[in-house]
Amino acid sequence: MHHYELIPTVCFNCEAACGLLAYIDKETGQVKKLEGHPLHPGSRGRNCAKGPATVSQLTNPERILYPLKRVGKRGDGQWSRVSWEEALDDIAGRIRKSIIEGRKDEVVYHVGRPGEDEYTERVIRSWGIDGHSSHTNVCSSGGRAGYAFWMGMDRPSPDYTSAKFILMMSSHLESGHYFNPNAQRIIEAQQKGTKIAVIDTRLSNTASKADYWLSPYPGTETALLLAIANQLIQTDRFNHKFVRDWTNWAEFLADRQYLENLKARRFIESVPDGQTFEDFVTVLKQLYSHYTPEFAAEESGVSAKMLRQIADEIARAGEAFSSNIWRNAAAGHRGGWMITRAIMFLNVLMGAVGEEGSMIPNAWVKFVPARNSAPAPIREWNENHWPREYPLSYFEMSFMLPHILKKRGKRLEVYFTRVMNPVWTFPDGFSWIEMFQDEKRVGCHVTLSPVWSETAQFSDYILPMGLATERHDLHSYETHAAQWIGFRQPVLRVAKARRGDAITDSRDANPGEVWEENEFWIELSWRIDPDGKLGIRQHFESPYRPGEKITIDEYYQWIFENAVPGLPEAAALEGMTPMEYMRRYAAFEITKDVFAVHKRELDKDLLQHAEIRPQPYSSSDGTATTSSVTNAAVWVDKLPHQANHAPQPGPFKNEKGQLRAGIIVDGRAVKGFPTPSGRLEFFSTTLRDWGWPEYAIPIYPRNDRERDEMVHIVSQVHHKTIDVNKGEYMLLPTFRLPTLIHSRTNGAKWLHETAHTNPVWINPVDAKRLGVKTGDEVRIATEIGSLVDKVWVTEGIKPGVIACSHHLGRWRLHETTGSDRWNSSLVKMDDGGDGNWKIGRVHGPQPWKSSDPDTSRVWWTDGGVHQNIIFPVQPDPISGMMCWHQRVTVERVVGGSRYGEIQVDTKQSYHAFERWLELTRPAPGPGGLYRPYWMLRVLKPHPDAYVVPESKPGMLDRAE
Ligand code: SF4
Repeated sequence: MHHYELIPTVCFNCEAACGLLAYIDKETGQVKKLEGHPLHPGSRGRNCAKGPATVSQLTNPERILYPLKRVGKRGDGQWSRVSWEEALDDIAGRIRKSIIEGRKDEVVYHVGRPGEDEYTERVIRSWGIDGHSSHTNVCSSGGRAGYAFWMGMDRPSPDYTSAKFILMMSSHLESGHYFNPNAQRIIEAQQKGTKIAVIDTRLSNTASKADYWLSPYPGTETALLLAIANQLIQTDRFNHKFVRDWTNWAEFLADRQYLENLKARRFIESVPDGQTFEDFVTVLKQLYSHYTPEFAAEESGVSAKMLRQIADEIARAGEAFSSNIWRNAAAGHRGGWMITRAIMFLNVLMGAVGEEGSMIPNAWVKFVPARNSAPAPIREWNENHWPREYPLSYFEMSFMLPHILKKRGKRLEVYFTRVMNPVWTFPDGFSWIEMFQDEKRVGCHVTLSPVWSETAQFSDYILPMGLATERHDLHSYETHAAQWIGFRQPVLRVAKARRGDAITDSRDANPGEVWEENEFWIELSWRIDPDGKLGIRQHFESPYRPGEKITIDEYYQWIFENAVPGLPEAAALEGMTPMEYMRRYAAFEITKDVFAVHKRELDKDLLQHAEIRPQPYSSSDGTATTSSVTNAAVWVDKLPHQANHAPQPGPFKNEKGQLRAGIIVDGRAVKGFPTPSGRLEFFSTTLRDWGWPEYAIPIYPRNDRERDEMVHIVSQVHHKTIDVNKGEYMLLPTFRLPTLIHSRTNGAKWLHETAHTNPVWINPVDAKRLGVKTGDEVRIATEIGSLVDKVWVTEGIKPGVIACSHHLGRWRLHETTGSDRWNSSLVKMDDGGDGNWKIGRVHGPQPWKSSDPDTSRVWWTDGGVHQNIIFPVQPDPISGMMCWHQRVTVERVVGGSRYGEIQVDTKQSYHAFERWLELTRPAPGPGGLYRPYWMLRVLKPHPDAYVVPESKPGMLDRAE
């Protein structure tokens, strides 16, 4: 018989942030199990396998429990235990010196999925550095850019529950983003009769549950989506009123030069004399008439009949049509962002944006509260992360950091990695290893992590951080049509506090000296600015005890008392303070049924002080143009106060410096969309004005000549460029396994027992050609290197395409350190000099003795093969997305096992970087800026920082 104390928290094993309930054994004081938290608005008591598995990570004998400092060379595997004091003083001293000496671009915080909103961004902003980097460009830039060019906001949040038809280019029933909260709503819809279509070259588990599976040649998805759009357009089964009211068709028609250009390129037959909506429909019909189902069938390999069926389903669903793409093909190809443009085009045609059952822009259903102090916007622009060559990227060009530093002749003084394992997760890992091994390039590498990782092996400090039940975080994710906040909390600390135990910080309740980042950042910031003269310390002072250091309780107390609408009232109803309420429930729903925000009428008081004036259009040649259609907007001197600090595009200003509060639609002053036109942008003037006019509308090349001309949106693995007779294949490397998530699930023994191998999927047709069967070994070679993996023969992949999950193949350089032994192989790494690297497997996972008897029961011997390390960087020239799909050759391995063998030439990696760089069209853009000011940017700087200095050369201006 056990007696438990239940304390809620939030899962940290992926970004969905589902609620967890910790069962704390009252006798032992330990977390015994984790289950779903029924009152969490996003997950509603349900979790995937990774949530409850957190408990196995808590007691993982491989955990890092104390701060470690490197001894010997980076990567040698020798570590000594240091005190937090020593680590803090050294790191803070280096950062302080960099700031004082004007080397602000040498301090970088590089984070994967942060698992929180605003906390660390505020820290970095307070330091006054443009030093935030993320993982976004290896994940979702193609999705984000495509959505942002339409609606300003860069992410979809489909209202799956009420959808009548769902079209997914994702694998949401197994691993898509936000996996479990979305998956449970998709299943609910399906149980009510909603049909699902999945576009995925690979037969994912999600595709296997769908009513329609469309398996195109990778990178041709835009063609089939435009063919579906064409079906809706030619048969007039689209929502004329929505398109007329809510798209910038009038701006498109007003640019006569642009239309003439489309005519010259034979996309339209004539330029209409008038500029009415009917004229637009005529142009629309001409423009998309080329994309017949038959054309798309030839291009994509999906039958014309299937495309017509999907168009029929979408037409039937009307406004209740939901779609989603986040990674999938958008993350695979040059021009992946255009695939996103094309899928959202379908929603726009149906008026299925913001309505019940449709696609909801993310910023409407996310809530980020204000903090007690707000550092001013930074006045720096760091081209190491935001190079001028990628002015429209979403976001930092982080996966190319080693090449960018080399090309720009730059170094880093302090480089933090957190939830970030670039050596393993990013492409071209050996270039990262070379960067880390060069102490002149990286002065001090600090890994903040609960567990070992390939990257942690090349650190100077590894600082042990808390797991989901050992830390505070506040976040809000766009899981459905509601705004909520979730509060991750250290459950044992909360339990101790309830008992009245004295707590100084989270280390008092965590194992070993495990801390939490949030308290670490407060302490570090005080040490960077001990006397407050740098203006940093003030942001880490208590709002309740002026001049004194803020505690983590005070930080959240202030937010809950002052910045979350409705929370103080809800708490008072239960006789609690807001902080007590959040400690008890760990989540709060601010508002639900958030639909059609664009149609919301502006406040009458605001209108009294507003001016209604037209927004000027501009033409391709930069001159102002006119349209017969009213394009009025509502302009004010000051925008009304917003409680929600979720990042929004904008602000949008007119020539008088007034700010746009909304637009006029059908005679009503409404909120509109945060885009330059205030409407959904069929015609992106941003793309036009920033050097990419040919891609300003949803478009796809129709023939070989256009593929050459429009190379920026043609996949690097387009099937017509693959020569099967030379043994070439397209490698699809982007799928996850439902039970794992990158480095985060390291140490979760149950999950690694469930999944521990990543064979190469090969169609029986190709298996026959290659002479291989399941279990045989093949060597897969890219432009920069090769690996050896095992084969899985399956009809779940299209002939000519092979696939491999990137979720396995963990490795370590030393027997007892480097990566968890549950799932990693011990390897030998050889530096052959001149950029030639090799990795050979010594042994796979095997039993070992530890405090956990399960370590001696490890029965699996295969940990998979590290895949991403043989990929060159392939940045999309517009979105900045890493185009993951690879052109490879495949050959059978004969003469004994070479399993896990990897070789790479980083000289070739650098050549690939330079070749892709040549495809860019660099800033400065209009106004001499690095980036359009209206576009989202992490750590958005002061407008002054956007101006490109004439004196500084870009990467394309530099000789080697
Ligand atoms: S989907 Fe799974 S891993 Fe992700 S937050 Fe929810 S329970 Fe955790």
